[in-house]
Amino acid sequence: MKNRIIITNIQRMCFHDGPGIRTTVFLKGCTLRCPWCSNPENLSPLPEDYEKDGIHGVYGREYTADELVKMVLKDRDFWGTEGGVTFSGGEALMQTEALEDVFRELKNRGVHLAVETALFVPEGLLEKAMSYIDDFIVDVKILESSLCREVLGGNLELYLRNVSRLYESGRLKLFRVPCCREYTFSERNRELLMSFFQKYTGIPVQIFAIHSLGEKKYQSLGRAMWKVEELGWEALETYCRELQQAGILAEVIRI
Ligand code: SF4
Repeated sequence: MKNRIIITNIQRMCFHDGPGIRTTVFLKGCTLRCPWCSNPENLSPLPEDYEKDGIHGVYGREYTADELVKMVLKDRDFWGTEGGVTFSGGEALMQTEALEDVFRELKNRGVHLAVETALFVPEGLLEKAMSYIDDFIVDVKILESSLCREVLGGNLELYLRNVSRLYESGRLKLFRVPCCREYTFSERNRELLMSFFQKYTGIPVQIFAIHSLGEKKYQSLGRAMWKVEELGWEALETYCRELQQAGILAEVIRI
């Protein structure tokens, strides 16, 4: 529905969601169901009731395009010459239709726009977003088609077409890999990741360990969180060196 934008959070002074200092808008709704997801409040596209420490609330607030534009522009003085607004989620591109007026208005005002996306979205939504968004930060997860469908609920072929389209456009600026011992960090997936990154040489890669910091949010929604076995820094560093030795611009980050 046009102009009905559902947001769970607007985070200011972000340094890792694109160039410069940024305001990051967290949108509700996701096309995937990653077992390790640490943002359960962003999975459903609709507002959801929660209870935390005896206090009741709602995850998700509805904004009009005008309200959202006004809200983020309050931060303009902090962005400097490089910063701007990043849309994240959930799957930020799921609300592309509703956000189009926001994208257009911010672009008209010269604001740099970025999106963090898992990219499992219909091609039409990506094309529309590409008319406005400067930089795309793209997750890379399970690269085996059947496992991707079974574990994440995603269509890998669609994802790969979207990655290729973005790469050709020059707007694919960064890959991010959430490292999960059972799936994305399995030996087989690491082999697939290596070939994948070699195909897209020149695009930097950030790797990070999944964590259980979302546990309280699961509790507040009355759900149990998947048991996360966090990978140690050393394992990530070793993997990062393997990628670097293969000519990939990799680094380990904490998220
Ligand atoms: S893509 Fe992100 S928000 Fe969606 S389920 Fe996976 S981890 Fe959660």
